[in-house]
Amino acid sequence: MSRNLAIVQRQKVRVSLALCAAILAACAHTARTPSMERTAPLVARVQAEGMLFEVLYTEPDHVEVARIGSGLLAAGARLSRWGTFRQGVWVRVYPDHDALEAALDRHGYPWLRAWAFGDQVLLQSPRSWSSAGSAVAGQELSELLTHELTHSLMYQLMEPLKSFGPDALLEEPPLWFREGMASVTANQGHGRLSGEALSRWLTVHPGADILHPDVELVRTEKEAVYGAAHRAFELLLRVSGDQAIRDLLRGVRDGARFADAFKAATGHGLPDFERDAIRSRFALAPPAATHGAGGP
Ligand SMILES: [Zn+2]
Repeated sequence: MSRNLAIVQRQKVRVSLALCAAILAACAHTARTPSMERTAPLVARVQAEGMLFEVLYTEPDHVEVARIGSGLLAAGARLSRWGTFRQGVWVRVYPDHDALEAALDRHGYPWLRAWAFGDQVLLQSPRSWSSAGSAVAGQELSELLTHELTHSLMYQLMEPLKSFGPDALLEEPPLWFREGMASVTANQGHGRLSGEALSRWLTVHPGADILHPDVELVRTEKEAVYGAAHRAFELLLRVSGDQAIRDLLRGVRDGARFADAFKAATGHGLPDFERDAIRSRFALAPPAATHGAGGP
C-alpha cells in the first residue's frame, strides 16, 4: 500500500506521526513497565551504500530488529534497478494490527501489514502477523519490505528537484502502476492471481474498473486488484523495459504529467495501454489484433 506526497497527504503524515507517538506510549504503558523513559521509541540505524534507514520500535520488538534490518538491506539490492534513494527512510514498527490501522486512520483491512510514504514505512511488527504468534517466514518479511520501499523510492524519484510550495500537488500514478511496480520489484508474482484467473474474475465483474479501483474494491477484492496491478506492470516491462520506467519517473520529476511522461517514455498512451492490457487479459495481443478495428 502506498500514499502519495500531495500536500493533503503530507498533513496526513503529520497526523500519523502524532498518533504514532501516542500509540507507542500507550503500548509501553501496557508493556509491564511503569517507567516513563521506556515510553520513548527505540531507534536502530541500518545503513548501506546509498541507503539509510532508521527503525523506530518499542521494547517488545527488540527481537525483531535484526530481522527487519536484514530485510531492509536485502531490499536495497532489488530496488537499485530503479535508482537510489535521495533521502533516508524511517521504518516505524507498530506492535500489532490495531495499532497500525489506528495510525493510518483506516479500518477494516485485516490483510494490511504496512503502509509507505516517500520518507517512511509504517510496519506492523512481524511478531504479530500470525494469529498463532509463530515467527513469520523471512522471505515474506523481505518481500513486504521490498514492496513498501519500492513505493518510497518511487515517490522520491518522482519528487521535483526544486523545492515546492505548500500548494504544490504531486500527481498520484494509477494504483496499478504503484502496486504493480512494488509487487514486481518484490518478486511477489508467486502469490498473485494469474492472467487466466484474472480473466475469469473480469468476466464475473464486467463493470469493475480493476486498474482504477475505488476504496471499497481495494478493501474487498484485494486479490484481484493486486493481481491485476502485478500483471499489468509485468506487461508494461515486457513491452517497454526497465529503462522506460526510470525515464517515466524522471519525466514526472521534471514536471510532466504522469500520462504525458508515460507516453514519452514507453511510446504507449496510458489509456490505450490500460485498455489493451485488460482486453488482452494482460497478454498483449499483436498490434494488428489490438488496433485492427479502426486501422488502415
Ligand atoms: Zn503497496
